[in-house]
Amino acid sequence: MSIELEKSGYSFFQERHRLETGLALENIARVVSDSREIYMIQSAAGNFRATLSGKLRHAAETRRDLPAVGDWVAFTRADAENAVIDAVFPRQTCLERSAVGKLDVQIIAANVDTVFVVIAADRDFRINRIDRYLALILNGGINPVVLINKCDLLEEEGWRDLEVQIFRRHPAVEVVATSLVSGLGLDHVRRMMIAGRTFCFAGSSGVGKSSLINWFAGENLFSTSEVSLATGRGCHTTSSRHLHLLPGGALLLDTPGMREVAMSDAGDGVGETFPAIEALAADCRFSDCSHTSEPGCAVLAALADQTIDAAALASYMKLRRESSRFEQKLHERHRADKNFGKMARQVLKIKKILKG
Ligand code: GDP
Ligand code: ZN
Repeated sequence: MSIELEKSGYSFFQERHRLETGLALENIARVVSDSREIYMIQSAAGNFRATLSGKLRHAAETRRDLPAVGDWVAFTRADAENAVIDAVFPRQTCLERSAVGKLDVQIIAANVDTVFVVIAADRDFRINRIDRYLALILNGGINPVVLINKCDLLEEEGWRDLEVQIFRRHPAVEVVATSLVSGLGLDHVRRMMIAGRTFCFAGSSGVGKSSLINWFAGENLFSTSEVSLATGRGCHTTSSRHLHLLPGGALLLDTPGMREVAMSDAGDGVGETFPAIEALAADCRFSDCSHTSEPGCAVLAALADQTIDAAALASYMKLRRESSRFEQKLHERHRADKNFGKMARQVLKIKKILKG
């Protein structure tokens, strides 16, 4: 392993892949920003401006196959400042959403360990919004933690009640009450930010994400983001980096996409967000039960004897509908793409025959 790479979050997960593929440590970097297929990558030998190799671009079938912020990549140096990305390492986790209007996925961030979902205690509190975030995060294989921020604006009774509401619906999810005014919960959250792990903050605008990020980053955020980790020299690029080394050694990933992640498809995460309902659904008589009127529906039975909550069920059903709609559209598009590719290859073949 390499100390310099570990500062960027390099772990045994990547090391195993490196050993399997026989890559040299000096050819490994982490993507810290991307802008229209121009990437900034951070390696043990410093930062480079990188583009995709032709091979990688041609082999890519969807956005999932291209690098995203947070990804580990194999690269080749071109000169002192430029490099070419040859391959993307398998992702340990991946936060993605449907690219609106494009019918493709958009990778918001790769290899994030924990997402802090921030809500504000004083805002009109909608637990269904938390469900959406959790579904998206769990779908990506990431650990979610809910922060109830601005608790100074309520009496303790008030924010304790919010904690209980979230706990009732999501007993397995950690919830921390915080306040930048009183300092409540901040040390607790800081202790969660372990060195070498990657974190990010999500939530609606105005809930206090920037304030929290600045608090955890201290003075360090802007200085580290402008200086190459290895050389200590400033980096000659105007593209802003999104991966920041915090004073305690944790990494903070902060992309605009991350902050905006309002909602989209949650995929398999819906079931993980509502494990109790999902487990019941497996007991329904019909495997494609819609849990609305079918005989032998275990979910409706649980609703009737109040084992599950009607509001939680409604939220679950809504997310399920949304995610299956998106999956279906995506599937249709991939089929269309495949057919088009087949046709194009046939045309080329015919042209070749005609020519020869
Ligand atoms: P963001 O849009 O989520 O990044 O939110 P900001 O960090 O910009 O914060 C929005 C507003 O909430 C700012 O005026 C902050 O000063 C304020 N704020 C943030 N955290 C707290 C808090 O814990 N308590 C109170 N009372 N205000 C806060
Ligand atoms: Zn059912």
